[in-house]
Amino acid sequence: MLAIRNLQRENDLIAEKIKIIGSLYCGHLKTENYSKYIADDIFYEHGELEGINFRLKAENEKSSNYMTEINTTKGNFKKYRQSIKGTNWGLGLFKYKSCDFCEDVSGDLADFSLGDAWLPKYEDDDLGTNLVIVRSQMILDLLNNAKERIFLEELSDQELFDSQAGGYRHKREGIHVRNKLLKKTAGIAVKPRYKLEKDVKLSRKIIYWYRVFLRNYSLVYIHTKKNKMMFKLFSVGITFLAKFHALLIKADK
Ligand code: SF4
Repeated sequence: MLAIRNLQRENDLIAEKIKIIGSLYCGHLKTENYSKYIADDIFYEHGELEGINFRLKAENEKSSNYMTEINTTKGNFKKYRQSIKGTNWGLGLFKYKSCDFCEDVSGDLADFSLGDAWLPKYEDDDLGTNLVIVRSQMILDLLNNAKERIFLEELSDQELFDSQAGGYRHKREGIHVRNKLLKKTAGIAVKPRYKLEKDVKLSRKIIYWYRVFLRNYSLVYIHTKKNKMMFKLFSVGITFLAKFHALLIKADK
């Protein structure tokens, strides 16, 4: 995003052509092995994976309880996301390392940003609810003109933060902990944009270290492609690691 903004500043033609920049909220990006892992978890003998729909709305369910469907040479198969091990986003399995050093949650430089409104008051709508941050008058006018056709409600800053609190914490606090780890292991560190307001509690530090371990555990997956037993072992490992992560979160509260 910063690169596009810089380009707009340097090049009048590009500045003229790019009218609006939109962004999604981003917790982190998964590697392509995440799709393969999900397909194996849903149905190991699935043949060639041709497509995947990560979010298939499930009627009469809470918005967070969606399904994931795979399209394969042997047919289409689906499963509730919660019953696929390791898909809790907070675990950070199959995450790119670079995402552990990114502090941008909502696409700070975009004209508008769209994210999931993970707030209790919207949970019961199985279609889900988006939050929109508007930083452009043009987008604001468009939304206001569509008021009759879409549900619009203003959120406070606190609600906005609460809806993605985990992401803000993991990125803007966690980066300082991961940075120290990077410095120790690789002798380099990135330059965080946001300073720490207070020292990070030990229980939180352990969570951030543990998530780095989980990211690295995901690298084992590729070796489980050889046979179903190895995949099962990997999958059991994920179950235990996820349970331990939940314990760490509980201990931190
Ligand atoms: S680098 Fe940041 S914005 Fe890009 S995919 Fe990773 S977390 Fe998202």
